[in-house]
Amino acid sequence: MEDCLFCKIIAGDIPSTKVYEDDDFFAFKDINPVAPVHVLVIPKKHIQSIAALTPDDAAVAGKMLFAIQKVAETLGLAQDGYRVVFNTGEKAGQTVHHMHAHILGGKEMAWPGV
Ligand code: C5P
Repeated sequence: MEDCLFCKIIAGDIPSTKVYEDDDFFAFKDINPVAPVHVLVIPKKHIQSIAALTPDDAAVAGKMLFAIQKVAETLGLAQDGYRVVFNTGEKAGQTVHHMHAHILGGKEMAWPGV
């Protein structure tokens, strides 16, 4: 998608600190981290949010959980645990309208955090 910030990051038109990439997903460090480890996992296919998923996205949606698992393992978070956040829609704090999972870790976290 032409005007999408994350599509431009995937294309390399906007710089990012990549931590993982495969055929379907790209992961990079969040530029404004809110935890010692804060990485975003995004599908290469432009999908606006969880709310915009259609049955055609079933495969990518399923694979995304495995990509998140792999990235978290790569980041050394598997043992201590990590939080995965999908802000969905503006009231939930979604500012970039390309579906993304925040992986947050490296600290003790409270719940609920809303
Ligand atoms: O869930 P939300 O849409 O608010 O998350 C967007 C995230 O993208 C923010 O945490 C922001 O810091 C991050 N971002 C980034 N690199 C950019 C622009 C935004 O990591 N160039």
